[in-house]
Amino acid sequence: MSAQILDGKAIAANLRNTIQQEVTVITGSGQRPPGLAVILVGDDPASQVYVRNKQKACEEVGFLSELIRLEPDTKESSLLALIDELNRREEIDGILVQLPLPDQIDEETIIERILPTKDVDGFHPYNFGRLALRMPLLRPCTPKGIMTMLEYTGMELAGKDAVIIGQSNIVGRPMALELLMARCTITVCHSRTKNLSDKIRAADIVVSAVGRPGFVQGNWIQPGATVIDVGINRQEDGKLCGDVDFASASKVASWITPVPGGVGPMTIATLLENTLQATKLHTAAK
Ligand code: NAP
Repeated sequence: MSAQILDGKAIAANLRNTIQQEVTVITGSGQRPPGLAVILVGDDPASQVYVRNKQKACEEVGFLSELIRLEPDTKESSLLALIDELNRREEIDGILVQLPLPDQIDEETIIERILPTKDVDGFHPYNFGRLALRMPLLRPCTPKGIMTMLEYTGMELAGKDAVIIGQSNIVGRPMALELLMARCTITVCHSRTKNLSDKIRAADIVVSAVGRPGFVQGNWIQPGATVIDVGINRQEDGKLCGDVDFASASKVASWITPVPGGVGPMTIATLLENTLQATKLHTAAK
């Protein structure tokens, strides 16, 4: 193996440590701690795990965290009323609605109802638009966490060729905007992309967000490239793996993220970072 491991677990722990210190300063000066409300509708097992991890992370850094569980048959109007209430509550800086939502609730309608300065997921069209216009405010957590990891490598991003596999609103698209803002030349691939492996072979940076185990082969990777694996896939034996065939890709890449322990912990740490940023926005607006 030649690649260095881009250790998301360790970088996330550093970030949480810095956040915790800032919270100590905030509360030491007599101000309230940052507050995050997490709404979980229904009982999807994966969502329950994600929500629990987010809550645990909040508590560790000294945030106020409030988990609101709603029944699977919750009406859209009830969820909107709850968001209105959380938008008004001063001690809540961030509102996170765990996706996916049940079919009777329209995700876009819900996301748009969250006050943009409380949209710590960075999914509101206001925040997305600001990112597209190179004036970011609250930025989607997974791509922002990946930018923090790339910074950690010390590599100059400007001028690099980056290929992103996946064009979802939560990963692929904002990732493209982040890398473009860093002045990479970007190629966004999806299920209709032709000659995918050739495009990946030309990339200095590969970000895979497909959701298929072993999708990216080692012989698709340019020697010395940086490989970021966003995929989270559960194997038959119950273990998690990414999209990238780690054994073969790690022989040629210069940096590679493991799964688990790569992008996942960074997403949660970045959620905390966004919540702290939202707290500062609210304090400054007073
Ligand atoms: P998604 O909405 O399902 O998007 C998957 C993307 O992959 C789509 O754009 C799709 O193209 C593309 N795709 C599918 N088959 C392809 C193929 N054969 N060739 C090229 N592209 C192909 O998924 P997502 O929400 O972005 O998540 C992607 C993965 O990342 C999942 O495993 C998810 O669990 C994981 N994830 C991890 C984190 C984290 O913190 N680590 C955060 C979010 C997501 P089309 O658009 O053409 O269908």
